[in-house]
Amino acid sequence: MTSFPRTVTSLACLSLGLLGAGLAAADSYPAKPITLVVPYSAGGPTDVVARTLAAAMGRTLGQTVIVENKLGAGGTIAAAHTARAKPDGYTFLIHHNGMATAPALYRKLNYKPLADFDYVSQVIDVPMTVVGRKDLPAKDFRELQAYAKAQGNKLNLAHAGLGAVSHLCGMLLTQAMGVDLTSVPFQGTGPAMNALLGGQVDLLCDQTTSTTPFIKANSVKLYGVTTASRLKSLPATPTLAEQGLAGFQLVVWHGIYAPKNTPKEAIDKFGTALRTALKDPEVAKRMADLGAIIPADDKLSPQGLQTWLEQETQRYAPVIKAAGQFAD
Ligand code: ASP
Repeated sequence: MTSFPRTVTSLACLSLGLLGAGLAAADSYPAKPITLVVPYSAGGPTDVVARTLAAAMGRTLGQTVIVENKLGAGGTIAAAHTARAKPDGYTFLIHHNGMATAPALYRKLNYKPLADFDYVSQVIDVPMTVVGRKDLPAKDFRELQAYAKAQGNKLNLAHAGLGAVSHLCGMLLTQAMGVDLTSVPFQGTGPAMNALLGGQVDLLCDQTTSTTPFIKANSVKLYGVTTASRLKSLPATPTLAEQGLAGFQLVVWHGIYAPKNTPKEAIDKFGTALRTALKDPEVAKRMADLGAIIPADDKLSPQGLQTWLEQETQRYAPVIKAAGQFAD
């Protein structure tokens, strides 16, 4: 029988030990609560999605998924924070189109969306709605366009900062409507909606995951949806394209990101917990009731998010350049 030289035997034992430790580490992950960073205020659409999923994911992972709202600069502060976080599998970021638009919106961005992150999965696609304060004189979108033109820049639009989709919608709306809206920034569209309900701002373009309850309660004026076709959750509401803005389309997609070099077993386990949560009947019903659409399975993967982010980053650059900024 050939005996392995002592060094080979001891190396073999060492590597088996390390392999065992690695597997043990994988088996024990997650060993403590996980943080899911949300780039906007509590109560806004990103927060609604994050908290709904975090509760369900925590059940699958056997650890609490803590939602942390890290505010500011249209979501770029949260993205920069996550890019610099320890890549140990205990910090993740949920973010939307803002990951693709920020490079075109910010001359100096202290993170690279396409280099500083590992990708977990796409999450959910959410339509947007253009809503106005209850006592705004315009009763439909065409009247709103005429009223906005007559008001010059006296009409304002609330949003969640440069990089937020409510800001992006405002840019695209002012360009497509040929009007001049004054922008009113907030730390998220949760507080923006409160200002709209209080009559302190005139207009808001926000996601159905936030606006649907207020629309159903008839506490805001609804002017249209930003999707190519009408929504099952708001069937009577015409699209902006039906009301004169031919081709206007804006859907808010979401992704989950981790700091670069996060252990693969953490990425895999967090992604599996997300996919399980999206199949949970209660989560699926809540998302459907709020007009949100769960993407096809091929998008619910690291490659599905990375490919999409690359495509959207390229697509948005000229769109943002053409739209320019509206008065900040
Ligand atoms: N998603 C942001 C929020 O949750 C709003 C936005 O991006 O417009 O507040």
